[in-house]
Amino acid sequence: MLNIILFGKPGSGKGTQASLIKDKYSLLHISTGDVFRKNMSNNTDLGLLAKGYMEKGELVPDKVTVDMLKDEINNFMPCNGFIFDGFPRTTFQAKELDNLLLEKSLKIDLTIALDVDNNSLIDRLLERGKSSGRADDQSVEKINMRLQEYDNKTKPLVEYYNDQNKFYSINGIGSLEQITSRIVEVIEDYNND
Ligand code: AMP
Repeated sequence: MLNIILFGKPGSGKGTQASLIKDKYSLLHISTGDVFRKNMSNNTDLGLLAKGYMEKGELVPDKVTVDMLKDEINNFMPCNGFIFDGFPRTTFQAKELDNLLLEKSLKIDLTIALDVDNNSLIDRLLERGKSSGRADDQSVEKINMRLQEYDNKTKPLVEYYNDQNKFYSINGIGSLEQITSRIVEVIEDYNND
């Protein structure tokens, strides 16, 4: 099993890279943002609850997110491994993920962060907003709220995974192929150790 977290601020390219990496290593891609959006378009109770937070650019409460993630993992087992995109986003979520994996004698192998400066992120998200239809991509205020949520709640995870020697940061600026090969290099180094 190979379990990877793709880490980074909103717009850093986690989703795009996760779908490329999942194919290369036959992993299952779990994007909590995508699962929430699917629930929103199906008007489920979970979708309705998540919508209010997502549209403001705030994180959905931990308990709801973790319960959803647990269902996703259990539905996908057994498999070759997971690539998590947009999860965990808080220390609580990271601990719950560790516990859940431990129950299955699994662990996170690598956390790979895509490093992109805020100005580039804002440009990318506004550009994406023209076609994504995502309410949270539509204004600088909403994007700034998401960046603030990252600083307040998600950034502490850098230390959490660093302390476990599982944290790697790569330059997230470049062509799709360049960024994929930077990620692959981290994975290959790990596999060859
Ligand atoms: P994303 O597609 O990863 O950019 O996520 C879009 C939005 O979904 C976020 O701004 C949050 O409102 C919500 N969301 C996604 N993943 C999580 C998570 N792990 N914890 C809390 N909220 C989340």
